[in-house]
Amino acid sequence: MDNFKLETDADGIAVITFDAPGKSMNTLTAKALGEIETVIGQVKGNAAISGVVFASGKPSGFCAGADLDEMIASFTTGDDEAALKALYDRVSAFNRVFRGIETCGKPVAVALEGLALGGGFELALACHYRVAADNPKFQVGLPESKVGLIPGGGGTQRLPRLIGAMAAAPLLLEGKTLRAQEALSLKVVHEVVSPGEGIKACKAWIKGGGEAVAPWDKKDFKIPGGPVYSAQGIQVFIMGNAMVRKSTYCNYPAQLNIMKAVYEGLQVDIDAALRIESRYFANTCRTPQATAMIRTLFQSMQALGKGAARPKGAATTNVKKAAVIGAGMMGGGIAHAQALAGIETVLLDQTQEAADKGKAHVADLLTKAASRGRLAPDNAQAALALVTASSDYGLIKGSDLVIEAVFENREVKATATKRAEAELSADAVFGSNTSTLPITGLAEASKRPENFIGIHFFSPVDRMGLVEIIKGAKTRDQTIAMAVDYVLKIKKTPIVVNDSRGFYTSRCFSTYLSEGLEMLAEGIAPAIIDNVGRATGMPRGPLEMADDVALDLVQKITVQAKADLGEAYQDRPTDALIETMVVTRGRLGRKNGKGFYDYPESGGEKSLWPGVGGIVQAIVTEAEPDLVEHLRTRLLYRQAVEAARCFDEGVVTDPRDADVGAILGWGFAPWSGGPMSLIDGVGVAAFVATCDTLAKQYGDRFDPPAGLRAMAAKGQGYYGPAPSKTAVA
Ligand code: NAD
Repeated sequence: MDNFKLETDADGIAVITFDAPGKSMNTLTAKALGEIETVIGQVKGNAAISGVVFASGKPSGFCAGADLDEMIASFTTGDDEAALKALYDRVSAFNRVFRGIETCGKPVAVALEGLALGGGFELALACHYRVAADNPKFQVGLPESKVGLIPGGGGTQRLPRLIGAMAAAPLLLEGKTLRAQEALSLKVVHEVVSPGEGIKACKAWIKGGGEAVAPWDKKDFKIPGGPVYSAQGIQVFIMGNAMVRKSTYCNYPAQLNIMKAVYEGLQVDIDAALRIESRYFANTCRTPQATAMIRTLFQSMQALGKGAARPKGAATTNVKKAAVIGAGMMGGGIAHAQALAGIETVLLDQTQEAADKGKAHVADLLTKAASRGRLAPDNAQAALALVTASSDYGLIKGSDLVIEAVFENREVKATATKRAEAELSADAVFGSNTSTLPITGLAEASKRPENFIGIHFFSPVDRMGLVEIIKGAKTRDQTIAMAVDYVLKIKKTPIVVNDSRGFYTSRCFSTYLSEGLEMLAEGIAPAIIDNVGRATGMPRGPLEMADDVALDLVQKITVQAKADLGEAYQDRPTDALIETMVVTRGRLGRKNGKGFYDYPESGGEKSLWPGVGGIVQAIVTEAEPDLVEHLRTRLLYRQAVEAARCFDEGVVTDPRDADVGAILGWGFAPWSGGPMSLIDGVGVAAFVATCDTLAKQYGDRFDPPAGLRAMAAKGQGYYGPAPSKTAVA
């Protein structure tokens, strides 16, 4: 066996240690699965063995789940029938092997010292006893639905049988994970012990007469919360269906299939239930949403996480000390991310008081993480000790990198650049966190523009995983490499783009707001616009999001674009609309409690501001299905066509950057896999044809760029040849 080690102690307890060779984390490959079947066979046939303990040889945890790369290969091969059968057979192997553990006749326990996710958690659920280590690294859950899949190793059947369908729902449908104490209070694990004590506790359970039967294999088994057809059970499914539809707008086949698998599976015995799950698993894998989501949210994320965006051949760098100038909302967040990654951080502001305020924000974030069990208190203390708050630019000396997050003003940024460079060595890098100012222009203030780069974080920094790295005209490859290495070190996902107004993310995101405003100016009722926006899979409607961004900022960007573009700027009806909102009505958005919505001071639910009707009269107040479909297409295609333009202009050069950046950066409909995947999914030719129709109706903002037309003519897609089947959207 390559992946497992079997050792039997003097009490006849077999410890099976999962330790995949050459990997930092265990995954369930077909080979590993086969080895589990073999080892369980050996245990079963050996009368001297009284019980089994599964454990891990990796400090990181037990198992991260099925090897998705291996599985993905079988997703799209062959015709429907053959591919479905291949998928069914492949996933059935998980259920056969795990069921084999559960019914081997010996008590089986598992020691979970760190994470157990997806198939790794499903393996644990097939054991009769689960012990968790009280360790911040501990985490169990079923994240499959986050990449468009359903759990396929019994998760949809064992978890609801263990804790009831209602309690299982957030784990199955949202991929919620549990810490040790949460897992204990939900009765997902039986016991929580100190780190390193897991195997001992498992053995003690076996020696104490641990039962070798799963609850659902006992005659008197009752599903917690009642069977499907009971007063309580029916409530769960009626409410559950409504909630799934409300939160997903039926954009995600995985969530619907999970609901079906649980509903059907709980009405039959466990063996039939597992077959039902396997069928839904195979069906889900064959959906275009699963293909697109896995590619972007798993494969591309993983590739970018390994530095795919890094220039080839550039020397590896390791930022040990970095200064952050500007200790405001962004600067504080950046300092926090650096400190967590063990980077010595100087946090500077104009006054000591302002710098201290930034450090207090870091302390606050660390304390919260520690109080929620996500960070050991000692580590929180150590991280905070790495941050020095000051107003003394002299402390920058010795930094490998400086990031400025001062006010969004060219002069202020130029001064900060000059003062920092006076302290820096010749090979240190200067990064700007500007959200809008072109990098090439900002680099003019620098003595070393080849070492100057955009490092664009998203707000709030502690929750947003993306960083957009922007190359200026003179930025050299080694500078890009350092920016990528730094972003990876602080555990975020880097994408690399070229300089452009709004770079990639802000430029495309702004089209979503702008299309919503166009609809409003045409007389479509605000409620329809925002409801359709949410139904496309975007996190919020365009008007809500405009309020969140701040309407005065939207107006400022327009004024700046007008000034920069001069005669080339084309006035739009929405300019007047925003100006009236901001200048005449003083409605700045969420920040002053007044925008397209009213925000009660008490913090209650926001409601649409009736006064919008006094600025632009609603003509369309009924959302007929055809209209909804049309508006949905406009909102999604407007963003996708802008992303295609960015591609044509060389602002983005890799579809993976574009897709990951869109989902992580501005919440572009995740079910689509991102704008490039959306275009590929629809088919480039079909997308171009629809855009041409929209351009005739609404103007050249929908015009597909030349490169996209050329791709359509050649039958190409961003990720290779156009698929034979039309798919999503
Ligand atoms: P902020 O107003 O909260 O913080 C700016 C800080 O910079 C203030 O504390 C100010 O005192 C300090 N400062 C100003 N001049 C300085 C100087 N010369 N030396 C040292 N400190 C100085 O602003 P913010 O929201 O944190 O934004 C900072 C930058 O990040 C801006 O360029 C902004 O465009 C960009 N950005 C903001 C967001 C966002 O959502 N807020 C997102 C991405 C990027």
